[in-house]
Formats: sequence, structure tokens, C-alpha cells
Amino acid sequence: MLPDIRSLTRDELAARFTEWAQPGYRVDQLLSWLYARRAVSWESMSNLPKSLRTQLSSAFALRPLELAGRQGAVDTTQKFLWRLADGALIESVLIPASPALYGEASDRHTLCVSTQVGCAYGCKFCASGLDGWKRHLQPDEIVEQVLATERIASAAPSSTPAAAADEKSVVTSESANAESRVVNNLVIMGMGEPLANYDNLIKALRILNAPWGGGIGARKITISTSGLAPQIRRLASEPLQFRLAISLHGATDATRNRIMPINRKYPLAELTAAIEDYQRRRDRLITFEYILIAGVNDAVSETAPLAALAKRLHAKVNLIPYNKVDGLPWQRPSESVQDAFLAALEKLDVTATLRREKGHDIDAACGQLRLRKMSELANQ
Ligand code: SF4
Repeated sequence: MLPDIRSLTRDELAARFTEWAQPGYRVDQLLSWLYARRAVSWESMSNLPKSLRTQLSSAFALRPLELAGRQGAVDTTQKFLWRLADGALIESVLIPASPALYGEASDRHTLCVSTQVGCAYGCKFCASGLDGWKRHLQPDEIVEQVLATERIASAAPSSTPAAAADEKSVVTSESANAESRVVNNLVIMGMGEPLANYDNLIKALRILNAPWGGGIGARKITISTSGLAPQIRRLASEPLQFRLAISLHGATDATRNRIMPINRKYPLAELTAAIEDYQRRRDRLITFEYILIAGVNDAVSETAPLAALAKRLHAKVNLIPYNKVDGLPWQRPSESVQDAFLAALEKLDVTATLRREKGHDIDAACGQLRLRKMSELANQ
């Protein structure tokens, strides 16, 4: 299979154009088609000579994601289910501006992207790992989640989720609203453990960050990990300053061991040492994601170790009430339990937010829409 052209950096493309004896300005014309206009076909690149388009199409693929399903209304959280070229399904979630989370008041949209098909890490509460790990996403498959979402958002919006459900195709509104960016915050928190697909992820983020590419500031890109300590240390040496979030979900080894197998490999002592190393070399401000699960990690007694960790590591805590996953026994705590947990943390001088998911009614837990679609396809 030919490599998709969105897996190449500007330097790599420029080297290829030099080999082909093409003038340098052609590289910028091509990049404009790929990232400003979000083109989905070579034919549409009208200011490139036909001979160059033919040469490009024989060396590279341009594989737009196919929209296989969509949930949510235009002005709320929307979930997109994408079909990849090999038929595998992945999800992205588009979340409207939320100043309290990763962005600022002026932010427009945050996109949560996937980095793997399935997940090998097997967190007990998560739908993404239920069907096991299939493969890493290539850089273009990560980049294209942003471009495909922007194509949809720039096209005439569907007025209802029901209407949207009929859109099962490649969205081709490549020139609509071409210069505008819809996604200006990225969270790498969808299906998969991002740092397990390290090289492809970092390459994709370089492309999404570059002024010639996605144009998304590195400080607006948050990488979330379940706790791969060695890769956190590696991330500290990256030239770009991405933000780091830790999917903590438990502040003691006993709690994390119960729900996150990764903790047996990298227990809290090792994870926190890696975070401290990252903070010495990079950003001190990190985020702890903490999914509140009834009877597992939602007791007020859990707030003391959580507060101690948060203060030691200068972490803000995002509390996320659990979204029920079909086939798993875990439950969301009542709102009074959620509120009591937040209040106890705040009393301990921890900066914390409680994120009552807007997407609760749309299979909001990561991986749920994909699982449902796969079982529909299996039953056809
Ligand atoms: S929570 Fe993240 S790391 Fe854990 S199984 Fe789900 S996708 Fe994988």
C-alpha cells in the first residue's frame, strides 16, 4: 500500500520535490491543498501541473477517513466513527469550548483523537480495550482525524443527529471555509495508549502543530497517558512543549492495581518519579484525569492520597463521572457522592473540576460507539 502523503513532513516532501526537479514553491502549493483546503483528491489541486499530480498519485495515497457513524448535535459534544482503509473503526470526539478544561475562554473546539485501533492496556472500566489491540495508527490516520472533522464542521451542518446518522461517506467539502480552523485544541485521549505509539504520534503532532500543517499550538495539545513511565521521560526531551495529562483514576497502588494493569508494571513510585523528571525538564503544570467509579475510587478517604500527589506534582485534577459501558459491571456514583468528593479535594487545597459529560447519552465512554458498530456489523 502506498504511504499516505499526510504522513510526510514538509522537509520530507521538499526532498522528494527536489529529486523530481520541482520548484520549491510547489511544496507550499501542495501543503496548502492538504492542510488549508483539506483536499481529498489529487484532481482538485488545480494549480499543480497535471504531470505532477500524476507523479504524486503514483508515489503517495490520499486516503480520507470514511464517516461510518456520528452521534450528537452540532452545538454539543459530537462523536465520529471513522472507517480506515483496512476496514478498522476508530473514534474521535469533538467537544465545544470549555474554558475550565484544557483551553481558554476564546477556544472554539477541542478534538479528542485516537492513536491505536483497540488498546492493549486493558483498563478494567474502558470500552476501548474490550476487543483487544489491533494495530497502531499511522501518522496520517491521526492527522486525518483533525482534517476530516474540520471538513464536516465546515460543510453545511446537519441539523439533527438523526440526519447526521445518514452521512456515511467521505465528506468532500474540501474548499468550504478553507482557511478557517475549527479544531484549535487537541487531546490525545481517544482509543489507545498514545505513548505506546510514540513515534507515529509525535510525527503526527509535529504535522498538526506546524504552521504549514494543522497550525495547532503545542501548548494546546494535551497528551494523556495511563502511566508509561519510560515514554514520559522520553517526552521530556521532545523539542515541542506539549501538555501532559495522566489518566490516574486512583492515588494508591491498591486502587490503581485493581483497575489499571499498567500499574503493576509501572507502580506509582515509578510513575511519579518519571513525572518529576518530566517536570524538571519541561512543564510543571500537569493534569490528573480521575474517572469516579462507584465503590472503587469515589470514597472521600481516597481524596487524601490524591491531594498529596496532586500537590507534590503541581497537578490539577479533572474528575469525570464514569460513563456506563455495556457489558462491564462498573457504575457512575450519584451526584451527591461526586460533589462530596470534589468538596473534600477542594478543602485540601487542590485545584479540581468536576466534568459532568455532556455526551453521557451518546455512548460517550471512549470506544463505545465503535463496539456497538462492530456488534451491529457482526450481526448483519
Ligand atoms: S483507558 Fe486508555 S489505556 Fe486504558 S484500556 Fe482504555 S484506551 Fe487503553
